Amino acid sequence: MRYSAWGLLRGALSGQRHWPQAWRDAVPKPRYDVIIVGGGGHGLAAAYYLAKNHGIDKVAVIERGWIGGGNTGRNTTIVRSNYLFPESARLYDFSLQLYESLSQALNFNIMLSQRGLVMLAHSRHDLDAMSRWANAMRMNGIAAELLTRDQVGALAPALDLSPQARLPVLGGFTQRRAGTARHDAVAWGYARAASALGVDIIQNCEVVDFIKQDGRVAGVSTSRGRIGAERVGIAAAGHSSVLAKLAGFRLPVTSYALQAMVSEPIKPVLDTVILSPGTGAYVSQSDKGEIVMGAMLDLFPSYAQRGSFAVKQAIIAATLELFPSFSRLNLMRQWAGIVDVVHDSSPIIGPTPIPNLYINCGWGTGGFKAIPVGGWTLAHVLATQKSHPLAEAFQLERFVTGRLIDEAAASGIAH
Ligand SMILES: Cc1cc2nc3c(=O)[nH]c(=O)nc-3n(C[C@H](O)[C@H](O)[C@H](O)COP(=O)(O)OP(=O)(O)OC[C@H]3O[C@@H](n4cnc5c(N)ncnc54)[C@H](O)[C@@H]3O)c2cc1C
Repeated sequence: MRYSAWGLLRGALSGQRHWPQAWRDAVPKPRYDVIIVGGGGHGLAAAYYLAKNHGIDKVAVIERGWIGGGNTGRNTTIVRSNYLFPESARLYDFSLQLYESLSQALNFNIMLSQRGLVMLAHSRHDLDAMSRWANAMRMNGIAAELLTRDQVGALAPALDLSPQARLPVLGGFTQRRAGTARHDAVAWGYARAASALGVDIIQNCEVVDFIKQDGRVAGVSTSRGRIGAERVGIAAAGHSSVLAKLAGFRLPVTSYALQAMVSEPIKPVLDTVILSPGTGAYVSQSDKGEIVMGAMLDLFPSYAQRGSFAVKQAIIAATLELFPSFSRLNLMRQWAGIVDVVHDSSPIIGPTPIPNLYINCGWGTGGFKAIPVGGWTLAHVLATQKSHPLAEAFQLERFVTGRLIDEAAASGIAH
């Protein structure tokens, strides 16, 4: 969409009343080919790829609040593919590749900034573990570079590099293709593109039950009535086990609050993403100039989107150990989201025990980076009823076969 100078001025003076809506706010129809429960990034991306890749456009995304109001709009926007196992490396790197051309594909600037990500080593043990990690990445075809302490310092001069630091930095490694993207833009870009292809985006509509016929899912009951569908996909992050329970099966998922916070905006001081696996803290600077901080989960299950004081304090303490000069900053905002953590820290993408019902969940603390691939692979299984090759290892069935993919080291802390 292009605007003339006059159009922009008219929009500004009239409170944007004449601007077209980016996506249609649809009213539920009685029936669809596919319904997707959850209007976060994964649900919206799945709807877009159903229409784009498979020509299925009688699709509704049903969101109980507003699109992107769940974790997609609450995360710290880090994208990377530095995982350990080949299955995860393939999955997350395909996602990063999709991100690399997403602004063009959606014709919507998602503000991808491949500013790199540096993992810090605070001990000889960390150095050893990181050299194995970087080697595993290289063996999976993903570039990674080990860094000396001076090289880390050159990338992030504000870090405390003195040997007396409580968390001394001995080195680390970097994935230079990693970085950040604007989270709202990812949701809005997929929503706009999906809507343009005919997908109905239905907000303020809660799924309260599943309609079943002969043991198969045949639609959903919602706060705005019953809606029929050939197939239903769930992409509801922190509430996936609540929806699974409604449908009549159990997921190996525990839900926790994960929190983050930002400082007041300041001039550019940090143009890479810093992660300290030893403390769990990670820090970046947003395009607005805010210092974005996050760390570990609240270690008790919860659906309260607040986050505990103890974790808040731990995040701030670790950040200030790494960047003492940030102690003079004012904290602007703190928030939390509910993330669904699977016991092997890997996602579940595929069929459920209930025929016609499919699920995408278990991204835990790190599913923003996986939105393109999560949508792509959920769309594939919904359209073809066959798992996408990238998702084959990530079936719910692995909790029966025992073929777990334990990515706790690469995804156990944020992100
Ligand atoms: C503080 C924080 C920081 C994070 N940082 C990162 C990061 O830096 N990098 C990264 O890769 N990941 C990060 N994550 C994780 C990431 O945000 C999530 O994994 C990802 O956004 C999940 O996307 P989603 O589309 O599956 O879920 P969501 O965006 O949560 O969308 C699910 C939607 O389902 C809706 N819903 C739920 N129940 C129902 C129902 N009954 N009916 C209808 N709709 C329903 C919800 O309202 C919600 O909008 C972070 C998460 C948090 C909380």
